[in-house]
Formats: sequence, C-alpha cells, structure tokens
Amino acid sequence: MLENIFARLEEIYPELVEIRRDFHMYPELSHEEVRTPEKIAEYLTNLGMDVKTGVGGRGVIGTLKGGKPGRTVAIRADFDALPIEEETDVPYKSRIPGVMHACGHDLHTAALLGVAKVLSEVREEIPGTVKFIHQFAEEATPGGAKPMIEDGCLDGVDIIYGAHVWSTDELGKVSIKEGYASSAQDDFNIVIHGKGGHGSQPHLTVDPLVTGSQLVVNLQQIVSRRVDPLQAAALTVGSFISGGANNVIPDKAIIKGTVRTFDEEARSIIEEALEHVTKSTCSANGAHVDYEYIKDCPSIYNDPSETKRVVEVARGLFGEENLITGIPMMGSEDFAFYQKEIPGVYFLVGGRMKEEDAVYPHHHPKFNVDERAIVNIGKMFISLVMG
Ligand code: MN
Repeated sequence: MLENIFARLEEIYPELVEIRRDFHMYPELSHEEVRTPEKIAEYLTNLGMDVKTGVGGRGVIGTLKGGKPGRTVAIRADFDALPIEEETDVPYKSRIPGVMHACGHDLHTAALLGVAKVLSEVREEIPGTVKFIHQFAEEATPGGAKPMIEDGCLDGVDIIYGAHVWSTDELGKVSIKEGYASSAQDDFNIVIHGKGGHGSQPHLTVDPLVTGSQLVVNLQQIVSRRVDPLQAAALTVGSFISGGANNVIPDKAIIKGTVRTFDEEARSIIEEALEHVTKSTCSANGAHVDYEYIKDCPSIYNDPSETKRVVEVARGLFGEENLITGIPMMGSEDFAFYQKEIPGVYFLVGGRMKEEDAVYPHHHPKFNVDERAIVNIGKMFISLVMG
C-alpha cells in the first residue's frame, strides 16, 4: 500500500517542483500572505477536500476523512517568506524585490500539497482523519500558530507532525530529538527612572546609571545561582542606554535583554527571579522601574512515545545510517505552540545541495535546498498518517 502511494508521489514530483518554484518566485512576507493561501486553498479544493480559509487570519486547513477508523492526525507546513533580497541565480529566483523564500517554507508547502494529493486518491484506505494545516507567519513574533489554535485548528486533533527542510543536513538524513528540542525565547525591557542632576552633586540625585550597572551584575547570578546547572539557560543583557555627558547624571537608563531556555521549569524560575531582582535592585537605590517580560516562543517539545514512532518510521525509510538523534535545533519555531496543546513531533529533513558552493545557511540571500527533500518530507508524513 505504502509503496503504491510513494510511487504516485514520485509520479507527481515534477508538478510539486513546479509548485515549489512558483511559490519561490512569488514569496510573501509574514502577515501579508494573500496569493499563497489562495493558491493552497484552490489546490486543496480541487482535490475535493473540505477547506477552511482565513483560519486565525491567513491560515488554510484541508480536512480529509479516511474510510477506516482511526485518530485525527494533523500535519503542518508554514508558507511565509523573509525580508531578504535574493542573491541566487536560479531561473525561479524571487520576482518580488526584497522578499525571498530563504527558509524553505515554499518547499514545505509543496510537500504538504503533494501529500494531500496522493492521500486524497486513496481516501478509503486512510485510518482516521487527516488535517492539513497550512500556517502563515511562522517567521514573525507573534506568529501564526497561536491565532490558528485560538481559531480551533487543533479541535479534535490527537497528534500533530511538522517538518523542516535543513540546508546543511545531507539529503536523505532525518534529524529528531526527543523532549525539548529547541530553545524558548523570551525578552525583557527595563526602564529605570532616577533623578538627574549635576555630576558634582550626586547626593542630590538618584543615579539610574549606577542602579542599572548594579542590576546588570545582579542579573548574572540568576543563571549561575538559581538555575540547576544541568539545565541549559542563557540570560543576556544586549542593550544598556543611559546618559550622554561627562558631568550630567542622567534621569533614566534603558536595559534590554533576552532569555533562552529549554526546560519550562528553568524558564519560569528565570522569569520570576528577573522581576524580583530588577524591582528590588531599583527600590534599594530609590529608583522607579518600568518592567516588561515578554514570553515569546516556547521550546519545541517532542512527545517521547510519538518520537520513538517517528524514529522508527525514519529508520525504515532511510536506514539507520541516515538517522540523526539527540541534537537540539538552533533558534525557535512556533510549532511549539501546537505542542503546548496536544502531543506532537517536529523533525528536520536534509536538503543539502549537491554542489558544495551552493550550500548556505537558512535566511541567507543565497539559500537553496535540494528539491528531492519534497519527496522525503512527503514519505515521512504519509508513513506517519498511514501507520
Ligand atoms: Mn523556517
């Protein structure tokens, strides 16, 4: 059965390449996607699928009810592009100035549409229901996952899978990490309000610069003294702006920073300590403070028992030698929001270009990936749905 579906996927591969290249030529920025969701909806509708558009804003969902009993499985692909001027010289180079599919979301979309097509042809054989989640604005903060969830995209869904093509992993490789697999990203903004004055009369002022300096040092003890040393965490002050003259004590200091964690417990310990240390350091110095902690994207959390299943599927398809396990992903990914609601697994699929001089990291103006990754992502999703 699977072999027949894979053969059909190979048969439509040229069509999927064409679709990917079309999206590549007409990329759209996060929260500005119009043409892309229209094309997706049209394709899914032509397959006879039940299609919902405008989900959470610009998302598209196709639902395929199988002929056999089973759970509801969601598979997700993102479709937004980046504000980058493309510098490749491929014939399907971006036609939109300053906008580029430099992360491979064009390929993710083509793969998901391919899976939708071949599975819709064997509807009777499918156990349960398949939800094809086409997500807008993955690259933005806030991204598209959250509003799509609020709009009900996970209603009735038992499990969700997501994949990302990876430009530095060889074609045929699949990388999966059980448990926390990407870092959560939170940011903080602090404004210390003191009382300015003459540099020669510090006793008449409340010096926000000295308070801020103490604060930056005090913050260093949060990771080193509050977080379990076995947990990975980073707390960085990336900006400190105050004053401007030799002899003036300024009236405020602005401090900005970021927090990266994997584990939710470490994340909340830091969130709580940051507020406490900031407020107490400022009040000890008689300064007022405006404090803001922005919880951005959580960590990808790959459900352990589902991860084992995905690893088995990858091993069966590509062989033990092509399996990469245990390596966390760099950066954050709003797929993590789906996994806060239901179990899910997110994995990387190799798409390294054969020519060494064509290999660039994601978000690079010369980024490109091997289009055969479409088939590999497709085979993973098909196996996970049919298995
Ligand atoms: Mn991406």
